[in-house]
Amino acid sequence: MTWLDEISPKHIQDLVPYASARREASTGEVWLNANENPYTGPTPEGLSQLNRYPEFQPEQLTDGFARYAGVKQEQVLVTRGIDEGIDLLTRAFCISGEDSIIYTPPTYGMYKISAETNNIGVMAVPLESDWSLDVQGILQEVSSSKLIYLCSPNNPTGSLLDREEICKIIEAAAGEALVVVDEAYVEFTPESSMVSLLSKCPNLVVMRTLSKAFGLAGLRCGFLLASPEIIQVLQKVSAPYPIPVPVVDIAREALSERGIDSMMRDVETLTKDRDKLSDLLKEFSFIRQIYPSSANFILFQVKDTTGVMRFLLDRGVVIRNQSSQPGLDNTLRVSVGTESEIEEFYQKMKAYEASL
Ligand code: PMP
Repeated sequence: MTWLDEISPKHIQDLVPYASARREASTGEVWLNANENPYTGPTPEGLSQLNRYPEFQPEQLTDGFARYAGVKQEQVLVTRGIDEGIDLLTRAFCISGEDSIIYTPPTYGMYKISAETNNIGVMAVPLESDWSLDVQGILQEVSSSKLIYLCSPNNPTGSLLDREEICKIIEAAAGEALVVVDEAYVEFTPESSMVSLLSKCPNLVVMRTLSKAFGLAGLRCGFLLASPEIIQVLQKVSAPYPIPVPVVDIAREALSERGIDSMMRDVETLTKDRDKLSDLLKEFSFIRQIYPSSANFILFQVKDTTGVMRFLLDRGVVIRNQSSQPGLDNTLRVSVGTESEIEEFYQKMKAYEASL
């Protein structure tokens, strides 16, 4: 029995996944095996025909992302965004009513929600006040959990987790739990990625997405990177045809050399604009604190979150209140928009200050 069998629930080990027509046969010329319509429905120009089911894991995407991220194709699972990746992890590795996950608030909300949706226990080990990990706190809970979610750069704090500390947790969890590092924003600090450790750390999973730096949140395309053994377990619980054909067309373009160059130019612009935005926020006396960010948003603390939110909203500017998260009293989060959107936001903030 391998360590993965030890942590993988028996019902998942025994599970024989649905044998879809496309998975059963991948070569042929006359396709009469999937009750598809031989005549295609309306297909927008430039996109592939839509009458055929897509591949279960479109090779062009697993290969494209593997090249981009510097891993092997067998280490990639394409998902409908990281959100689906989280759900697959929960369903593949946790037993309802028995298992738990660890997460480190303040952080992205879906780790907890996915666990709760599936009746999985949730152990919160809050970040310290400087947003670093409570490593001891996590180590104490490792043996009673299956998944440990760490988010770096973290949403909504914008902070990076310490690499050595993540490694300590991966080591302590070896053979007991998977450490899942959410790198949704990693293109804004590529040097912080944990991907290079995948080959050394069999219990590490890295989550990536086209929703942020690639500018394709509407596409719903994400990737789980892990050992081929973990990917095989996750494939068992995946839908038979999760990735729509148009998503393959568009994501393939995003992962081409041209697409990656364009993403990197956007990252450069957004990083500069983020730093400018941070300087602009320093002008306001009602802002108590501005947190440094390694992503495409800024968290800041004000005296009256509801007052600021309402004032901006009445003038058409929408930002996000983060005050309900532990440790984030009176904080707001603003995404880095275009130059003109930043200017709009800045002018409304000035008007708010003048109204006080
Ligand atoms: N992880 C983090 C940290 C996020 O902030 C978000 C979206 N806000 C997601 C994951 C969701 O990513 P996706 O769009 O790929 O589902």
